[in-house]
Amino acid sequence: MTPRYPFLDLKAVTAPLQDRITQAVSRVIASGRYVGGEECEALEARLSALTGGMHAVGVSNGLDALRLIFRAWKETGVMQDGDQVIVPANTYIASLLAVTDNSLVPVGVDAHPVTMNLDWTKVEAAVTPRTRAVMAVHLYGRPTWDNDVVRRLRRRGIMIVEDNAQAIGANHDGVPTGALGNAAAFSFYPTKNIGALGDAGAVTTPHGELARTVRALANYGSDRRYHNIYPGLNCRLDPIQAAVLNVKLDHLADETLRRRTLAAAYGRTLGNPAITAPGTHPGHVWHQYVVRCHDRAGLCRHLDSNGVGWDIHYAVPPHRQPCYSSTPYAHTTDVPVTEVLANTVLSLPMSPLTTPRDAADIAHIINRWCP
Ligand SMILES: *Cc1c(COP(=O)(O)O)cnc(C)c1O
Repeated sequence: MTPRYPFLDLKAVTAPLQDRITQAVSRVIASGRYVGGEECEALEARLSALTGGMHAVGVSNGLDALRLIFRAWKETGVMQDGDQVIVPANTYIASLLAVTDNSLVPVGVDAHPVTMNLDWTKVEAAVTPRTRAVMAVHLYGRPTWDNDVVRRLRRRGIMIVEDNAQAIGANHDGVPTGALGNAAAFSFYPTKNIGALGDAGAVTTPHGELARTVRALANYGSDRRYHNIYPGLNCRLDPIQAAVLNVKLDHLADETLRRRTLAAAYGRTLGNPAITAPGTHPGHVWHQYVVRCHDRAGLCRHLDSNGVGWDIHYAVPPHRQPCYSSTPYAHTTDVPVTEVLANTVLSLPMSPLTTPRDAADIAHIINRWCP
């Protein structure tokens, strides 16, 4: 049975745009150009504008975007096997996979109890002579940044990579996410704030050389046809997905405003002492609205019986995933906030179909619950 307040219904998200999407896809079909082409270039131009003039390279998905950034730095001698990358312990597995796929060593730093993102006060203590990069994951759509810490890291030659998969359209002090660091990865996975009808992603960076290397690596390592300067990959953006995204990006500002309105409605109405509401940030785009509750299982049962959809992001942090069990990353032990978050976080409906009225209703349902 579909809950009265579904967590996310992707079919219903697409429905109002279906005519425009069909027209855009038909243009690709009629063009006869099924790799690259105008829609891909248009998407890159939009992402460049969105990030205040960064170089933008459309790629196959968000994980590949992150992988290609590190791969490019390895190919150009900026990083070597065994170099370290500081990552937030509380993140989605893909942030980690991009590091380990490149034979780099992830070093987990705990989450901040309010932001649930990287605790910047703990970053510098984790830096070693082998640290080459810090990954800033704007988790849940909340920008994570610290100008003072970043300035000191940069002075030591440390790169900042943004995992912007969940935060398209966000900003920190007016600077768009995707334009804060040395490189950023975007994901257009269908559930993201701007989602394709399949996989897609992008890299943005202020460095033209890095953008060129990423573009070459994503296209068999070739800088021009039949001339391969790197042993590359095929991680190209699909023009049909680009066409879909060019339609969807017209609605980014509305979508962001809508999410902020929903978050405000939740925030105004939630008032159960057993629930911690998420902290706010002026540049937040609310990919998820994540509350915390020590009796999460009990709250979930209450939500289920009241027709409220929910999800958990994420119940098992990367350092406790089986894929890392025989690696040093499994011994990430000093991350108490991350461990508590894994057991307490709960995402409430924040879908394009959720109305502020729904959010207020859901908050009232939660207020009525006694653990
Ligand atoms: C979705 C996501 C990714 C990966 O993006 P894909 O397009 O699914 O490969 C990476 N990092 C974070 C934080 C994500 O949420």
